[in-house]
Order: sequence, then C-alpha cells, then structure tokens
Amino acid sequence: MARIRDDLQALSGYHSPQVDVPVRLNTNEAPFAPPESFAQEVSRRLGAVDWNRYPDRRAESLRRRLAEIHEVPPEWIAVANGSNEVLQNILLAFGGPNREAVVFEPGYQMHAQIARNTGTPVHTVARDSGLLIDPQSAREAMGRAPAGVVFATSPNNPTGLCEPRTTVETMVEAAVDHVIVIDEAYVQFASTDLLDLVRPGSPVIVTRTFSKTWGLAGLRLGYAIADPEIVEALELVCLPYHVDSLKQIAGEVALGHVAAMDARVKETVAERERIRAGLVSLGLAVVPSEANFLLFETGECPAGELWSALVDRGVLVRDCSGWPGLAGRLRVTVGSPVENDAFLSALEEVLT
Ligand SMILES: *Cc1c(COP(=O)(O)O)cnc(C)c1O
Repeated sequence: MARIRDDLQALSGYHSPQVDVPVRLNTNEAPFAPPESFAQEVSRRLGAVDWNRYPDRRAESLRRRLAEIHEVPPEWIAVANGSNEVLQNILLAFGGPNREAVVFEPGYQMHAQIARNTGTPVHTVARDSGLLIDPQSAREAMGRAPAGVVFATSPNNPTGLCEPRTTVETMVEAAVDHVIVIDEAYVQFASTDLLDLVRPGSPVIVTRTFSKTWGLAGLRLGYAIADPEIVEALELVCLPYHVDSLKQIAGEVALGHVAAMDARVKETVAERERIRAGLVSLGLAVVPSEANFLLFETGECPAGELWSALVDRGVLVRDCSGWPGLAGRLRVTVGSPVENDAFLSALEEVLT
C-alpha cells in the first residue's frame, strides 16, 4: 500500500459531524436560498455558454463586478473555489517550508489545516482572556520567522468578535516578508470591516466568501482583495481555469441582488439578537457576536450533555467544548425564525 506523506499522517481532517435532524444550526450557512430571480437568471444565461471552450481564465467580468462593489481596481481581486481555496492559494504562494503560518486559538480550524496540507509549519498563539488577539503576542510570533502567513479572522469564528483595527496595524508594522490575512467570511453581519487596510504595498489580504451571507455555500465561490502584486502571486499558483464558467456567471448574477442580500442580513442580525436575549434570559453567558452565530456557555449543564439533549430534540449545534480555550461552550448558527424558535424551546426544555 502507498503511504501518505509523513507530515499528513497525524491529521484528522476537518469534520463537522452531520447528524440527520430537522434543525441544523451547526455550519453557519444561511437559512435562506437566494431569491427566485437569481436561479432564473442563472438558467437563462447558461444557455449562452460555449461549453466546449475553457472559461475566461482570469474571470475578468466577475472580478470587474466585485471591484465595482468594493470600489477597488479589478487587479486587486483574486477569485477561487470558496474562500478556503483562496486561503490555500495564499499558503501556496506565501507559505511553505522555512516559513510559518501563525494562527490564533480559538479560531477557524481550517487555517492551520490548510497550512499543514501545503507543508507550512504552523505556529499557534493563544488569544487573550477576552478571546481577542493580543497584539504583543502577534508581534512576537511574527518575529520567529521572517516570512509567512498570519491569520486574523474578523468577525472571528467561533467567537463572533471583531479584531480591533489597532491589532492588525501592529501586525502590519511587524511584517517583514509576511502577508496578513483578514478572513472576513462573516463581515456583512458586523458593524465594521477592515477592507481599507488593503492599500498599495500593504501586506494585508482580505478574504470574502459567497458561502455565508449570499446563501450560496453550494456554489463554492470566494475571493481575496489585496495589492495587485499579491493577486499576481495567487494567479501564479492556482490551477489553470480553476473557476468554471458556471460559477463565474452565478457569482455575477448574485452580485445583481445586493438589496435582497442586505435584507436577509438585516433579518439574520435581528434574529441573532433575539436568540442572544433568549440565551441571556435562561441565565447563560453569551459572547457578543457580530456574525451569524452565537457562542455561549452552558452553565451548570455540561456542554456535551446539552449538545446531545438538543440532538435528541431534533436540533444540531456545534460542540466547541473540546477546542482550546472553549471548555463548556456551544456555538449556534442563526437559522430561520422557525428554526431559532425550535432551538430556544428545546434549550429551555433541557435547562428547566
Ligand atoms: C465558513 C468560513 C469560511 C468559508 O469558506 P468557503 O470555502 O468560502 O465556504 C471561511 N472562513 C471562515 C472563518 C469561515 O467560518
């Protein structure tokens, strides 16, 4: 039998256990599909695709639309199959042996996972007691290796907290040959973003995805916004024609539905605040989230037991209690109002 690379043997991969229950609030997907007109327009435009031809290799039209929306030049945009592939391309271009990926825990586990896949050594730094990045620790971590990739996520998953701008500014000052990735997968649910830290000559890369806000997790489309030299480096490592014709069209059509997306985001934020109030009224401590999920402490009831009791009542949330720094906590994704009611009443039943 062929033997897998030694450095991959210890890795277990990324698994969010999928249990077949009616209310699934464990992967931070949007509870709603995009509007009907989205699917209609995509179908219509697919009729005009030359399927025998490779897609536009540089996805010019899609990148131009994204650039317009973010008010940056199109050369600042790199697209890929989900923001996870964007992250992989960043690591292929700026990581690798002799460099380091710096990740902060608790955080998004895929950052370290993708780093290891690309042969990039991972240096893990604990967040402070408020679950934020300590700028001094970040600076020290970056001092260990003169080059590599530093991951900040804002709002962070699984906490929902935004990193202060000054933290990222400290990282920019500490950068030698580092790039600083600000993963903004959830930023539309937040009150601020850090996109203006992307400037000519800046090492900051902001990544975004269609998977959460746009209700298009099934599409697998994400992008980076960065200095054009960084974008060129990402083009260098991605496979030829990696973003297919269908995806380029669907992404562009989605961008024509900004108002519908904004309305869904507003509704999700309102529901998030309703769930937060519900958790507080049950006496549970909740992290003040700026994303489409909430991290809460399970109080007297052990987190694992509460997780199982919710599954028994048809509600699946994410058990984060085994993650570093998150003992006794679960994360619930904001779903539809009906799903959120199901979660809150199941929770109340278990706890009282
Ligand atoms: C969900 C999520 C993503 C999304 O990845 P895609 O590959 O675009 O689906 C990226 N970053 C974070 C922090 C996430 O939670």
